[in-house]
Amino acid sequence: MKLITITAYGSPEGQAAISCGKNGRGYYSNAAALEPWRAAVRNAAMDLLGTHQHVPPLSDKLDDKGKPKKNHAGPCQRCGTRKKDHGLLRGALRAEFIVALERPKSVPLDRDPITRSAGDWDHHGRAIGDALNQASVMCDDAQIVDGRVAKYYAGHPNALAMPGAIIRIWPIGGTS
Ligand SMILES: [Zn+2]
Repeated sequence: MKLITITAYGSPEGQAAISCGKNGRGYYSNAAALEPWRAAVRNAAMDLLGTHQHVPPLSDKLDDKGKPKKNHAGPCQRCGTRKKDHGLLRGALRAEFIVALERPKSVPLDRDPITRSAGDWDHHGRAIGDALNQASVMCDDAQIVDGRVAKYYAGHPNALAMPGAIIRIWPIGGTS
């Protein structure tokens, strides 16, 4: 298969480690900003590739509110495919994510995004990788065997003119 190029517009947000909430559930401390960005990447990928998110079936087990728990590994309610096979690309992948961050007005044009607020390169990689997995581009993030993340302010010659990301994925292996 050829190179796949996905262009997503939005406000890139890194995905740090999961924090533990009062109820013992994990959450991302920046979830309010992270989720719209992951949704932008998901939707751009699904629009381009015609994939859909895995819709987990309900299990017999009940959660603490008495509602049926979702079986996240089970057959998708839309297509019947189990989560581990619910991806368009099945083999090894090479990935490149070129992130374009919004440049604060106070920051001169020639600066690089190296402040804390710009986020770490690997956190940006994790957020985009997760979103591609949710969009069923691949079956598992672990298929990426060779990856690169670059971050710029939007408008840099190597990046988008607007905040967002250019996502390039090369299928480089056979199927697993
Ligand atoms: Zn499905």
